[in-house]
Amino acid sequence: MAYKFVDNYREQGARRKLVAHLETRGITDRRVLRAIGKVPRHFFFDETFWNQAYKDIAFPIGAGQTISQPYTVAYQSQLLHISKGDKVLEIGTGSGYQTCVLMELGANVYTIERQESIYQHTIKVLPGMGYHAHFFYGDGSKGIAAHAPYDKILVTAGAPFVPEILLKQLKVGGILVIPVGDEKTQKMVTVIRASETEFERIELDTFRFVPLVGDQAW
Ligand code: SAM
Repeated sequence: MAYKFVDNYREQGARRKLVAHLETRGITDRRVLRAIGKVPRHFFFDETFWNQAYKDIAFPIGAGQTISQPYTVAYQSQLLHISKGDKVLEIGTGSGYQTCVLMELGANVYTIERQESIYQHTIKVLPGMGYHAHFFYGDGSKGIAAHAPYDKILVTAGAPFVPEILLKQLKVGGILVIPVGDEKTQKMVTVIRASETEFERIELDTFRFVPLVGDQAW
């Protein structure tokens, strides 16, 4: 199905510049850069704001939420080391932009959003663009046990701690990427499931996310 917007030369050029900018910021994974270069981020914006779509900034999407900054999307995607066919749980669908980037990397994405208005919007927009993820509405802080285990789990909102229940839904060898901290700033954390009982935790750079709200969250 053709989408209502067009991916014209001006936006394609702006996207190429964004990719070059992300390289200067230290994103090195060519597959991630290619994925960012493919997803038309302006499709997630009202036409009035297309001039903002390829700036490296987060932007409001309603209900007090934001489409993530491209650098953050690239950074988290790079940490996930997606292989084609990976089953990925994304917690915090938001606009669905990150979902599309994961799908361009070859992931089979299960994505969950707790804000109904955002969920209702995104389940229409993404399939219209040709991105057929598995969409869920509800509290993702508990994961989605019915579809576990996952090769990778990505949390796109700031959590107060790493929910134990998410670790249980990770395959051995799997990776969880989650920002953890207080309401103001969070450290990006990756947890690798080394065996049934062993987990390796690495703390990385500081970010600022909207809060993860739910049973295993704020
Ligand atoms: N990566 C997304 C994008 O590119 O548009 C942006 C995600 S936005 C920063 C974080 C999203 O997480 C918000 O839409 C918020 O409603 C959602 N969220 C917060 N807590 C959640 C929870 N417990 N379960 C599911 N979604 C949650």
